[in-house]
Amino acid sequence: MKKAYLKIDPWRIVEENFDAKKVKTSESIFSLGNGAMGQRANFEEEYSGDTFQGSYIGGIYYPDKTKVGWWKNGYPEYFAKVINAPNWIGIHIKVGEFQLDLNKCIEVNNFKRILDMKTGIYTRSFEAQISNDYRIGVEVKRFLSMNNEELGAIKYKIKALEGSPNIIFDSFIDGNIKNQDSNWDDTFWSHKNHFKSDELILLHSQTQKTEFDIATYAQSKLFDEMGDSLGNCETLEKDNRVSQILKCKLHKGSSCSLIKFGGYINGLNHDHSDFNIVAKELTTKSFQKGFSKLVNEQNNAWSKIWDQSDIKIKGDDEAQQGIRFNIFQLNQTYNGRDSRLNIGPKGFTGEKYGGSTYWDTEAYCLPFYMATKDQNVARNLLKYRYKQLDKAIKNAEKLGFKNGAALYPMVTMNGEECHNEWEITFQEIHRNGAIAFAIFNYERYTGDTNYVPEMGIEVLIAITRFWIQRVNYSEYKKAYVMLGVTGPNEYENNINNNWYTNYIAKWCIEYTFKEISKIKKLNIKRWEIIVRKIDWDDKELDKWNDVAKNIYLPKHPEKDIYLQQDGFLDKTFSPASLLKDDERPINQNWSWDRILRSPYIKQADVLQGFYLFEDHFNKKTLEQHYDFYEPLTVHESSLSPCIHSILASRLGRSEEAYSFYLRTSRLDLDDYNREVEEGLHITSMAGTWMSVVEGFGGVRVLKNQLHIDPILPKSWNEYSFKINFRNTLISVSVKKNKIDISYSNPDLIVYCKGGRISN
Ligand code: BGC
Repeated sequence: MKKAYLKIDPWRIVEENFDAKKVKTSESIFSLGNGAMGQRANFEEEYSGDTFQGSYIGGIYYPDKTKVGWWKNGYPEYFAKVINAPNWIGIHIKVGEFQLDLNKCIEVNNFKRILDMKTGIYTRSFEAQISNDYRIGVEVKRFLSMNNEELGAIKYKIKALEGSPNIIFDSFIDGNIKNQDSNWDDTFWSHKNHFKSDELILLHSQTQKTEFDIATYAQSKLFDEMGDSLGNCETLEKDNRVSQILKCKLHKGSSCSLIKFGGYINGLNHDHSDFNIVAKELTTKSFQKGFSKLVNEQNNAWSKIWDQSDIKIKGDDEAQQGIRFNIFQLNQTYNGRDSRLNIGPKGFTGEKYGGSTYWDTEAYCLPFYMATKDQNVARNLLKYRYKQLDKAIKNAEKLGFKNGAALYPMVTMNGEECHNEWEITFQEIHRNGAIAFAIFNYERYTGDTNYVPEMGIEVLIAITRFWIQRVNYSEYKKAYVMLGVTGPNEYENNINNNWYTNYIAKWCIEYTFKEISKIKKLNIKRWEIIVRKIDWDDKELDKWNDVAKNIYLPKHPEKDIYLQQDGFLDKTFSPASLLKDDERPINQNWSWDRILRSPYIKQADVLQGFYLFEDHFNKKTLEQHYDFYEPLTVHESSLSPCIHSILASRLGRSEEAYSFYLRTSRLDLDDYNREVEEGLHITSMAGTWMSVVEGFGGVRVLKNQLHIDPILPKSWNEYSFKINFRNTLISVSVKKNKIDISYSNPDLIVYCKGGRISN
């Protein structure tokens, strides 16, 4: 393992010493978010060194015209980009006649950043020798409110350590922002108007093409050590940069603090004619309350979140810090209040994976939100797809499907496909299966039997109709086959009969069939409404039956092993452990052609199916498949090690499970893939949580009952977690010779290690 530049601490992420080479990495690691907006940990003051400036707003995107040299029918016309939003955190500072810039200071000492995950407060402090005469100490605190999604707060304190400088704060909002990943160097924003007074600055901007209205606002005040307001405020505007200028004189040993409240007022939630009123009210109320009170409220909000979602690990601070970092970031990315929002693979920490929603949400993130939050949060994730069903049907129509068949997009912002590499857009259709599985998983876990008849059934039928049309009957194989797909393993393209895809399609058809029968029996009125809405005829079921029974599942001719796809055995097999260090990751060192012909698997594929459908196979079969596929898997997707960790736990291989766990839980903190500066791997963080709760903790729902079957990794003395199962909070603690499970619902039956527990 590489030496970490961050200190190991159970609750905090701590960086000491200023290293210009680490600035971009730390900007990702120390990112802040509150589910509606987020930003990288950019410095407030000017910084002329290498930096990646980024602020993002949930649901706000730009349809950037695709950049490909050729075109194919059915291609989406744009690749949606999460838009880098106007900056509201900027505070440029003049000390005497010198601009504060850590890249240009004579000396920077005692630099420290702390992200306190317990409270959601990010602190940065340092001492800077600005000139021969002036030396200052700086302490900055910043947070994005978990109580008010439109509010962020900064306290910027400067102390004169040497000399008595005049200080000028230029506290601004700036609309001159561009995306690094813009395809054609387009500007994504047009600015409508601005407002400036000593009580508020505001910039009303609109996104090009998508026409989202956003107000970036801020209000700053300057205080002396006694908390008395200092100096007059001047306002300036130039080229969509609006500033409040505040000045004071510091005497050696004295200090002042600038307090800035700001953020975005979102046109998705407010009429743009109200922007000024809403922003004004927010800043006035915030100043009335004061920074400290808002900090207390922030602490309380996080304390509630941790109360339900914390995982405590004793005896292994590295693992403890890793899991808390993951839980913290997941909570910063999505809060579940707004069913128009979702979980992007990089959350609010970077631009790559510009689309907001991938299959990651259903396949990896749903279990975390289901178990650590009120069940409405998970329901909102499902509703997001329900609301986009019409677009998924249109997407399938564009590809030639009919009769209400739906193909959900691989990457989307608004329900339309916005990713366009043919092997992914057209072929990676297994995402439809994950969306159907999430509906099943949600009902199985929460016990909410209303979702399927209310909404889910329409999604299930539309997806099933897609599978039915996507297969064709092979006279040669005497079975239904699915040609030209890409499975979860993206290191194989345009293959036939990917086992995972065929299996999930078969399961989906059967599950939808059962759900239809259930609704017909229990809620015939609702079914009649659906029949009319989707133009249903029971005759469709005959074909469904036939396909589900006769779908082809490739299998080893001699061994009891499902093959990833047709022809898989033709490969030259050699374990990934024999690859040389300088060949890995192969996606950065090998040609694509060589990767496609190799036996190496990017991420869990057949094993992904064994994870989802655990109860369809016995342990021996799982073991055979794990031993066959694990040596070939290079885990070059961050979504992979967690699945292998969970399966290794199921097989009782706790050391192997643990080493996969470490790899997933500290992926970003230890920058395994040397790319953290681009942003964090948010969706795989949910996989890390699964490796503890479903893997080590052995939590699963089988035959409608909750089972907990924990193992304890060797290097841990103890761990504990809570899950919200069917509206009952269950606490699980696992020690060397003792497992404690407690909850306060006498009607709930829970099994531990196969035996029913009495509570
Ligand atoms: C993975 C996909 C995933 C995407 C976004 C890719 O590297 O192969 O499965 O959906 O990243 O996380």
